[in-house]
Amino acid sequence: MTDWHFHPGQNFECSQCSRCCRGWRIAVDPQTAQNLQATPFHKRLEEKNGRFFARKDSQEACSFLTSERRCQLHSELGAAAKPRGCRQFPFRLTNTPDGVFVGTSFSCPSIQNNQGDSLEAYRSELEELAQGLPLWGAAGLTVWQDKRLAWSDYRRLEDFILQSTGVEAGLGQGLWALAQWSLKPQRPLQTYLENSAAALEPPAEPLMLMEHHWFSQLLKHCGEKPVGRHREAPSEPLERYLRALVHGKSLINRRPLLGNLALLYLLPRFYRYWYARSGSPDQTLDQCERKIATHPNNLDDLVIRMADDFRDQLEPIF
Ligand code: SF4
Repeated sequence: MTDWHFHPGQNFECSQCSRCCRGWRIAVDPQTAQNLQATPFHKRLEEKNGRFFARKDSQEACSFLTSERRCQLHSELGAAAKPRGCRQFPFRLTNTPDGVFVGTSFSCPSIQNNQGDSLEAYRSELEELAQGLPLWGAAGLTVWQDKRLAWSDYRRLEDFILQSTGVEAGLGQGLWALAQWSLKPQRPLQTYLENSAAALEPPAEPLMLMEHHWFSQLLKHCGEKPVGRHREAPSEPLERYLRALVHGKSLINRRPLLGNLALLYLLPRFYRYWYARSGSPDQTLDQCERKIATHPNNLDDLVIRMADDFRDQLEPIF
C-alpha cells in the first residue's frame, strides 16, 4: 500500500477562476491526444517537436475554455477526457521510495489563500492519477554530472532545510553543503551540513564570494536583475511557499539536484523583485511558479562554475 504525504495545513477548493487555463502552453499528454483524434476537438490541438498542446485563443486562454469558464472537454466528454496535467492541477505528485508526496502549484489562488478542504480530501482522486508515475530516487539522485546522492542522504538534506530557522537560510546552507559534497563525496553529507552555518558566517565573506561569481551569473542566466528593497515583500507567504515546494519534492524533479537547489535558492530574489514591481503577493507567487515551470534545464555550466567557487572555500573549513 502506498504511503501518501500531504503538506500539513494546506487546503484547496477550486473556485473555477480559470487562471490555470490562461497564459500557459497547456500540454496534452500522448494518450489524451490520441483519444481526441477521434473527436472534432483534435483540430484544437497543435504539435510542436513531437509534443501536443492545446491551441490558445486571442486572449491567451486555452481554446477549450468556454465563456462560462468551464472546460469544454470536461463538460462534453467527461473529466477523463482532459489532459493529465489539467486533471492533476493544482496538485503535483512525486513518487519516491518513501511514498507519494503531494505538492501544489501556488499559481492557484485557492492554494495561495489556503481555502477549502484539507488536501487529504482529494486522496481518492489522486490515487488514480498516481498510477504509473515514475519512481524517483530509488537508485539515488543525480546531483550534477556523474555525482549521485543516496535517497537517505537526500532526505537528510531536505530535513535539514525544512528544520532550519527560515527555509531561505536552510536552502543557502544546503546548497553550500551539497556543492561541497559533490567536490569531495568521500566525506558524508552530514558533515558538510553540520558545518554549513559556520562556513557561511560571518555572512559577508563566503556569501560575497557566491554573489560575485556564479550567483550573479545565475541571476543573469535566469533573466532577472536583483532590485533594491524599495517595496518590502512580506516574508510569511514566501516562507510558506518555499516550505511547500521543498515538501512537494520540487528539488528532485527534472533537473539535477544541484541545479534545482540553486534555482530554489534564487527564488526569494525573484519573489522580492516581482513584489517590488507588482506590489501583489498573488502575482508574485504566480511569477515564481512560472519561473520554476519554464526555466530551462541547462544550468550545468553555471553549476560547474559554482562548484569551482565552492572549491576555494573547502580548505579553511576542514
Ligand atoms: S487556478 Fe485553481 S481555483 Fe482557479 S480554476 Fe484553476 S484549480 Fe480552480
